[in-house]
Amino acid sequence: MGNKGKEIVKMNVDELIDKLNRAFADEWLAYYQYWVGSKVVRGPMKEAVIAELTEHAGDELRHAEMLTGRIIQLGGTPILKPEDWYKMTNCGYDAPEDPSVRVILEQNIKGERCAIDGYNRLLETTRDKDPVTYNIALQILQDEIEHEEDLQALLEDIDKTTKGR
Ligand code: FE
Ligand code: FE
Ligand code: MG
Repeated sequence: MGNKGKEIVKMNVDELIDKLNRAFADEWLAYYQYWVGSKVVRGPMKEAVIAELTEHAGDELRHAEMLTGRIIQLGGTPILKPEDWYKMTNCGYDAPEDPSVRVILEQNIKGERCAIDGYNRLLETTRDKDPVTYNIALQILQDEIEHEEDLQALLEDIDKTTKGR
């Protein structure tokens, strides 16, 4: 990273890189949970659920790209081994072993809530200290809030459809 670019970061850069790598691990696991979930999901409104899961998978991968861009800019190295995703993750991974739409949506809603907490913490940590990382965390947080809302709305629609009106 350029000297001036680094100079304006008013916090411990190694600690910041560590936090970004933890979020990076979360994004890869979220990506895969959505992606593989979209392949195995079964039940009412399956097509709408597949479309949403696939779209969110793409968003999570884009978040991983945003985070790795900042990690490298700060002079860090993104996690190089997938096995380390499990060691670094904040939010974990819920395998879609039960393919029913409700279970898969609930698992992903849980993941989104964890992501919202995580990015909200990252915003608090970087506020007034690193405007560039702050901006990235804010953009991602906005997406995660939309993800949670989309999944909750789908779950409500499915409940209406299957429980009668
Ligand atoms: Fe994400
Ligand atoms: Fe998300
Ligand atoms: Mg969506």
